[in-house]
Amino acid sequence: MAANPQDFQDKLKAIRKGFAKALPGKLAEINAQIAVCQANPDDRDALNTLHRYTHSLAGSGATFGYKQTSQYARKVDDYLKELLADQTYFSEEVAKKVCALCSELENTAKSEMVRVSERGIKIQSRASNVETVTQTGANVLDASRLIYLVEDEEFAAGQLKIQLTQFNYHIEVYRTLQEFEHAMTNILPAVVIMDIELPDGNGAEFIKKLYDEKNISAPTIFLSSHSDTLNRLKAVRCGGVAYFDKPVEVGLLVDRLDQITVTIPEEAYRILVVENSKSVAEFISATLVSVGMETKVVIDPMEVLAVLRDFTPDLILMSLYMSGCTGLEMSKVIRQQESFLSIPIVYLSGETDLDMQLSAIGAGGDEFLTKPIKPNHLISAVQSRAKRARSLRSLMMRDSLTGLLNHTSLKDKLEVEMSRSRRLGNGLVFGMLDIDHFKSVNDTYGHGIGDRVIKSLSRMLQQRLRRSDIIGRYGGEEFAVVLLDTGIEDAVRIMNDIRESFASLEQETGERRFNVSFSSGLAAFPDFTDVAELCNAADEALYESKGNGRNRVTVKKN
Ligand code: GH3
Ligand code: MG
Ligand code: MG
Repeated sequence: MAANPQDFQDKLKAIRKGFAKALPGKLAEINAQIAVCQANPDDRDALNTLHRYTHSLAGSGATFGYKQTSQYARKVDDYLKELLADQTYFSEEVAKKVCALCSELENTAKSEMVRVSERGIKIQSRASNVETVTQTGANVLDASRLIYLVEDEEFAAGQLKIQLTQFNYHIEVYRTLQEFEHAMTNILPAVVIMDIELPDGNGAEFIKKLYDEKNISAPTIFLSSHSDTLNRLKAVRCGGVAYFDKPVEVGLLVDRLDQITVTIPEEAYRILVVENSKSVAEFISATLVSVGMETKVVIDPMEVLAVLRDFTPDLILMSLYMSGCTGLEMSKVIRQQESFLSIPIVYLSGETDLDMQLSAIGAGGDEFLTKPIKPNHLISAVQSRAKRARSLRSLMMRDSLTGLLNHTSLKDKLEVEMSRSRRLGNGLVFGMLDIDHFKSVNDTYGHGIGDRVIKSLSRMLQQRLRRSDIIGRYGGEEFAVVLLDTGIEDAVRIMNDIRESFASLEQETGERRFNVSFSSGLAAFPDFTDVAELCNAADEALYESKGNGRNRVTVKKN
């Protein structure tokens, strides 16, 4: 019953396609309306209509990826707004100006249409492993990972490019402001990283000029070899989002890039609806699904426990009166189990069940909602409680340094996924990772740098694995991953890729740079069919990797 994100993506794609198709028509409409205004210079309605057309293009263009068209339409829109406010007559002179603006708008839109359909670089979006598809169906680069690096020092640029590529960013290097300007008018990146002093001018001044004259901008991070106040001030004045002294600490830079670019969409709230009446259950479910929540309906309370484990809801909505047992009894059964102790249960009760409501409160029941429930009440009540429950649970489940699942919750998830794989007949791989010689990292560079190394591995795992895979911090410098629906050969390849990337990543501390590696052990289901056996096998494989010289991946077969 989940609102399928793929459906949404498909819809969005269809809407975008529709916009591209309609764009020439919109431009023609604007041109025709200019002619109407010219023929009727006093007609305010005609001018209003023209204004409405350009205004709507300014608004919709940006939504569908036509940023520059939208920016240009905004210019025309502003000009027409002034005309309307000044009660200006649509004179020959005004007409000339409007025509000139609109023909520029048309050129911008046309070249943007070509660009949008020609973007040829293909990058996988890490969040969904779904390739973005343009209006014309061609594969395009995931603009949210595209970085323009403007740096004239070849070596520094090359180094930075290699390092940032490890974190799944796509880097295009430009040596001069001129090359950079050309690129900016072509495709806008997610972020610009720019040396503030370039051979053909000051970077910050150039960024400001680009914006003032061409209305083009992107979040910009400046790098500088000499941290003087004037340059810092220039960076602030052109809207720079950060300023780093060289040599840049890549860890900090990536942190900043992640903040700017990564928007991990919050997973939909999962609500379990336990309700005897099919129609009430369907009404509730449809109401919650309509605002993006995921629901599961259970009509027979005897099935609740079986569903709970798989569905892992954020909240349970349960009728007080049901055939077979009451909601109160069922809650007690649910609460008998340790892992379900913290799921909030909200009761649905009829207005007349006052006694029952009182005992629900007495029994420590969470809350109740009275039927008939207005959709808005239902949505806000469920949303706020699910949100609170989720943030509390996240505090309990996640490790504070990395934000990854902690040991216990990773093990819980592994149990759930094993039983799911068993049922569906899918493969699953459990992997353990342990950073090599980590004690000496701490001893040499200090605990703070050690923590940063742990975070860099955590970040790399998050960026390289699929969103559906499970990643946890198993203990100090140990991590565990569960790769779903994956065979052992693929898992070895993936883990080796990550291992090589991590080992080549330069860790930094002020002046000194060093590399750190990890060792890994993998074991697969159905090769091992029991959770404990699977974990032991991966642990033994990890031990073997260590014994054979570290910085390697070993598989344990049954
Ligand atoms: P090996 O290659 O055999 O794994 O050697 P190692 O030095 O990595 O292994 P060992 O288990 O001897 O040392 C792990 C070190 O990790 C010891 C501990 O102080 C450190 N450590 C554990 N948790 C943290 C943490 O959160 N931050 C930091 N900085 N260090 C940690
Ligand atoms: Mg260890
Ligand atoms: Mg270690």
